[in-house]
Amino acid sequence: MPNYANVIVDIALEKLDRTFQYRIPKDMEDEIRVGARVRIPFGNGSRSVDGYVLELTDKPEYEESRLKEIQEILPAEIGVEQHFLELAAWMRETYGATMVQCLKTVTPVRRKIRGKQKRYVRLNVTREQAEACLESFKKKNARAKVRLVEALLEIQESAEGEEVSLPCELVTGKLNISSSTLQALQREEVIQVTASRLYRNPAVHSDEKRRPVALRESQRQIVEQVLADYRKGQHGTYLIHGVTGSGKTEIYIEAAAEMAAMGKQVIVLIPEIALTYQTVMRFYSRFGQRVSILNSRMSAGERFDQFERAGNGELDVMIGPRSALFTPFLHLGLIIIDEEHESAYKSETMPRYHARETAIRRAEMTGASVILGSATPSLESYTKALNGEYRLFSLTERQGGGALPSVEIADLRKELAAGNRSVLSRSLYEAICDRLDRQEQIMLFLNRRGFAGFVSCRECGQVVKCPHCDVSLSYHRDGRLHCHYCGYQTPMVKTCPSCGSRYIGTFKAGTQQVEEYIKKTFPEVRVLRMDLDTTRQKGGYEAILEQFANGEADILVGTQMIVKGHDFKNVTLMGILAADMSLMVPDYRSAERTFQLLSQAAGRAGRGKRPGQVVIQTYQPEHYAVQAAAAHDYRRFYEEEMGYRMLMGYPPAAHLAAVMVSSREESTAEELAKLLKERILFLSRENPVECMGPAPAGIAKLRDMYRRVLYIKDRDFDRLTELRKGLEDYVEQQPEFPEGSVQFDMNPMQE
Ligand code: ADP
Ligand code: ZN
Ligand code: ZN
Repeated sequence: MPNYANVIVDIALEKLDRTFQYRIPKDMEDEIRVGARVRIPFGNGSRSVDGYVLELTDKPEYEESRLKEIQEILPAEIGVEQHFLELAAWMRETYGATMVQCLKTVTPVRRKIRGKQKRYVRLNVTREQAEACLESFKKKNARAKVRLVEALLEIQESAEGEEVSLPCELVTGKLNISSSTLQALQREEVIQVTASRLYRNPAVHSDEKRRPVALRESQRQIVEQVLADYRKGQHGTYLIHGVTGSGKTEIYIEAAAEMAAMGKQVIVLIPEIALTYQTVMRFYSRFGQRVSILNSRMSAGERFDQFERAGNGELDVMIGPRSALFTPFLHLGLIIIDEEHESAYKSETMPRYHARETAIRRAEMTGASVILGSATPSLESYTKALNGEYRLFSLTERQGGGALPSVEIADLRKELAAGNRSVLSRSLYEAICDRLDRQEQIMLFLNRRGFAGFVSCRECGQVVKCPHCDVSLSYHRDGRLHCHYCGYQTPMVKTCPSCGSRYIGTFKAGTQQVEEYIKKTFPEVRVLRMDLDTTRQKGGYEAILEQFANGEADILVGTQMIVKGHDFKNVTLMGILAADMSLMVPDYRSAERTFQLLSQAAGRAGRGKRPGQVVIQTYQPEHYAVQAAAAHDYRRFYEEEMGYRMLMGYPPAAHLAAVMVSSREESTAEELAKLLKERILFLSRENPVECMGPAPAGIAKLRDMYRRVLYIKDRDFDRLTELRKGLEDYVEQQPEFPEGSVQFDMNPMQE
C-alpha cells in the first residue's frame, strides 16, 4: 500500500513545475488515486493549495516526520485519467513545456463555468405549413429563408416526425443565415428560437437514421482493412490521400459507425474553418444524439458539458478542432484527422504540440487506430506512408465522376511586357467576362492580406514598419497605416522615415484595391470582399457568405478565408491573383504551403454540375509548386519538395528545434541568445549539431519584446530532446534568464 503521494501544485508559477511529496492519511487510502485532485498545505503551512496526484509511492523522499499530510480529496471534475497524465508527461517530454501547461492542455475545462445558454432553432409550424412557406419564399427569392426551412424539414424527415432543432450557432455559422433573417422568420412565426437544456444535442434522434450511402469498392476496402486490423489487435495509422470530393468523409462516417457498433468511441478532428455545416450534418443524421461538436465559439461551460457527456458514455463520436483530441472517452477506438496537413493542428502556445503526433500517441496508449485524410498530405505523413510506417490508401477520382477543374497559368511577366499593368491578366479578364455573361459566380483569391499593402521607398527600398512589432504596416482606405499584429495606426507618411525621400507609396494590391479595381472595370457587377477587415464585426463572416450563397453578388474577392470550407455550387471560375505571395514568405515550408493553397483554391471551382476553371497568375510560372498544382499532381510536388528538404536538411528529412529568446532590450535578447548558442555547442561538443543563428525571429519584435531565434537541426529527434533538456536546466540555473524568456518549438510550423 503506497503511503505517499507525489503531487503537482496547480498554480501557474512555472517554478513550481515539480512534484511535492505528502503523506496519505489512513482514511484516504482507499479513495486516493493517480490523477485525483487534492488540497494540500503549502509553504510554511499557513495556506492551502490544490494539486494533482501524479504518482503514488511507498518511498519517502524526506524523513517521514518532515512530510505533511494531504488535507482533502476534492471531487473529481472531468477525470484527469491516468492516461491523460501520461499523455501530458509525454507532451512535456516531447515538446518542452511545464507539466502544469501540459496538464491544462489535456484537461482544458476544469471548472464548471455557467456559460451563455445555448439556443436552438426549430420549426414552429406543421410540415405542410412549412412546405407552403417554402414555396412562397422561393417565389420571393428569399434564399436564406429557403435554406433554413429546407434544412429544418430535412432533419425532421430523418427524425420521422420527432421534434428536432438545430443549434443557433450552426444555423448562423455553417448554414450562413444572418441573425436578421432569423429574427424575420421568428416574427413570421415560422420558426422558434428556444433555449433548451445545454445538454440537448442539435439534431436528429431516431432509430431510423439517414440511410447510409453504399460505399464503392475503393472506399469499402479501406474501411474493411482498418476494421479487420483493429479486430486483430493491430492498431495502426492509415493515410488516405484522396482528392476533394473523392469520398473520404463517407469513409470516416462508415468507419465511425462500425466502431460505434462495437461499443468503441471515435474522435474526428477537423480544422475549425473546415467544420462546415454540411459535414457536421452528415454526422448528425447518421449518429443523432450520439455525436457532439466542439468549437472555439463555445463557452467553457458548454465545452465542459460536452466533455462530461463523452465521459459518461452518452456519445459515440466527438467532432471538433485540435482540442477535441482531449475528449475523455473511456473506450476510444478510432481517431480521424481530416485535412491532416493543416498547420492549425500545431499549437501556437505552450506546449507547442502537434495534434497528429499527439493523437497517434494517445491511440498507442489506449489501443486505438488513427485515420489521416488529405488531398495534399503533409510531407511528414506522406514520407511515413511511403516508409510503411503508415498504411497508404489513394483515392484518385471524385465521387460521381465530377471532373477536376481545368487550370491555366498566366505569366505576369508577359503581361507586363505586353503593357498590361492591371491586376488581371488578359486571360483572367476574358474568363471573368465570359462567366458574367453566363451569370455564373466568380471567386478571386489574393493570398496574404497586408503583405500586399505595404508602403516602401523607391529610393532606399525601406519598407515602413510597425514600431512595436517589426512587421510591415499596411495602407488602408482611411488614409492611415495599420499594423495587423498589434493594431497600431499612424497617418500615411509623406516622406521616407529612413532617407527622407518623397518617392514613397504602396506598390502591390491588397484585397481592397482589387475590389476597387473590379468595381471600376465592371461597373454593373456586384462585388463582395472578404478579409479580416470586412469580417471583424461579429457576424460579418456569415453575412458575406450568406449574400454570396444567395447569389447577391457575382464576384467574391478575398483572402485565405474564401479558399477553405464553403462550397458554392454556382462558382465556376477561381482566379488566383498572385500565387507568388506565399512563395516569398521566409519559411522553408513556403512551397508546400503554396501548393496546398493553390490546390485548395482550385478545388473550389466547379463543385456543382458545370465544369470549373482556374486561372493562376504568377511571376514564377515554372515553379514546381505552381506547375504541380496546375497539373493536380501531388506526387510530382512531393518528389521535388522532398529533394529540397533532403538537400537542406529540413523536416521531415531532419528535425528542427527552434529556441526563441525574448527580452525588452534588443541587446539583451541578442546576448542571451548567444549564451544559449555557446551552451548548445558545449553540450554537443562530442558530436556537434548544426546550430543556426541567432537571428531576429520572423516577427522580430512583438508587443515590445525583441525576439531572437536559434535553430538546431539534427536527424535524430532524441538528440534534440536531450539538448533541449540540457538548455532547460541551464536556463533555470542562470539568473540572467527571466521566467519565460526562453521557449522551445520542436519542428515549428508557423507561417
Ligand atoms: P471528401 O470528403 O473526400 O471531400 P465526400 O465524402 O464529401 O468526399 O464525398 C463527396 C460527395 O460524394 C458527397 O456528396 C458524398 O455524399 C458523395 N459520395 C461519397 N461516396 C459516395 C458513394 N459511395 N455513393 C454515393 N455518393 C457518395
Ligand atoms: Zn527611403
Ligand atoms: Zn504592431
